[in-house]
Amino acid sequence: MTKASKKSAPDALKDDSQLRQKRMIAEHFSRLAAAPETGDKCVYTFVPGNLTELLRCFDLLPVLPEINALQSAMRGKSKAYIALAEKAGHSEDVCTYVKCDLGMMKSGNIGPTGDRLPNPDLLLLSYTGCFTFMKWFEILRQEYDAPIAMLHIPYQADGKITEAMRAYVVDQLRGKIIPALERLSGKSYDEDRLKEMLARSARAEDDLVWVLQSAKNRPSPIDAYFGGVYYIGPIFTAFRGTEEAVDYYTALRAEVEARIESRLGPITPEGEIDNERFRIVVEGPPNWTHFREFWKMFADEGAVVVASSYTKVGGVYDFGFRHDPSRPLETLAEYCMGCYTNLNLPSRVEMLTRYLLDYDADGLLINSIKSCNSFSAGQLMILREVENRTGRPGGFIESDLVDPRYFSSANIKTRLESYFQMIEQKRSEAVA
Ligand code: SF4
Repeated sequence: MTKASKKSAPDALKDDSQLRQKRMIAEHFSRLAAAPETGDKCVYTFVPGNLTELLRCFDLLPVLPEINALQSAMRGKSKAYIALAEKAGHSEDVCTYVKCDLGMMKSGNIGPTGDRLPNPDLLLLSYTGCFTFMKWFEILRQEYDAPIAMLHIPYQADGKITEAMRAYVVDQLRGKIIPALERLSGKSYDEDRLKEMLARSARAEDDLVWVLQSAKNRPSPIDAYFGGVYYIGPIFTAFRGTEEAVDYYTALRAEVEARIESRLGPITPEGEIDNERFRIVVEGPPNWTHFREFWKMFADEGAVVVASSYTKVGGVYDFGFRHDPSRPLETLAEYCMGCYTNLNLPSRVEMLTRYLLDYDADGLLINSIKSCNSFSAGQLMILREVENRTGRPGGFIESDLVDPRYFSSANIKTRLESYFQMIEQKRSEAVA
């Protein structure tokens, strides 16, 4: 049954791109740690709707609290951090990213590289569809006594971006956000510099999309969920618009091209998947506390995730959107409005249906996250609707982002095995 090849090793097997992005992120954290000495100013902001190019244009350094939370979970720290936040009165139902972040702060704000993260000089709230973002920064504002700048992003309730919505966001960028960044950095807005960054963003986005779409091959050379979270790392965090991001995605693409040529499956921490048995689309974020174990449950069955919604949480690029340097503020507005968390349920159904068909997947699996309403609301409806439209079976499992109390290994493994058996049974019925 085990499909990961014999090349597996006790230490997680990593490809070159993974090591490269790990280095990039570590360097960023080192720069953040040194900020009190270097005088670099730090802006806390969220992944969906992040304005990295604009911040970098003022030489400001982004800090992403969700990334800190997931990194804490992967290092086994989130349980204690969440307990601290709950002791301080935050309810069990609150998004665990928030509680993990607060617990980390109360424990000295030590980041993933072991260094202390700087306090925010500004909280930039780019509000893309999740109400928790607002409450999270309200708490951080009290804790840090930091100024806050809010960019309100209209929800795509009707599934489209209108001219009035675009103008509303651009006005805020021009009238509120840019002046706040000018005050903080002491620098004037340089639109030519922003355009150069946006041009680099588009180049990196082209390569990222190419890599994600490589999963249309059989066998897929990548896993677009577990592996995908590494691929989106640089572009969804601090690097969009930089030369480093362009270089990373060029190298990643070359690596994946070589895998296609050799007809290789994805690399997993346990080894290569050398016999792809199931092609799955996954909706919902991964669990981070048991990430490697969770991935292994798929790899052991020869199940490869060929597309996922989570890898679109910081930007949906695969249906054509690219940052457009010729319309710098408009393009930033469109980017923010197009993030997955800002899409209505019919748009999500449409997107997942397309993934199943375009990637010739066997079915849609939902990982429903206990503490993330932004993803979880409406997921059962999504599942039924996608099943109806494609005729391909859906599966449903439940876990959490960073709270280990909500990852039941035995339960998830059993459900996954039943789901894969169901797919096999449907296949044999179709042949009979
Ligand atoms: S509820 Fe979900 S989208 Fe909102 S902050 Fe938490 S993890 Fe992010």
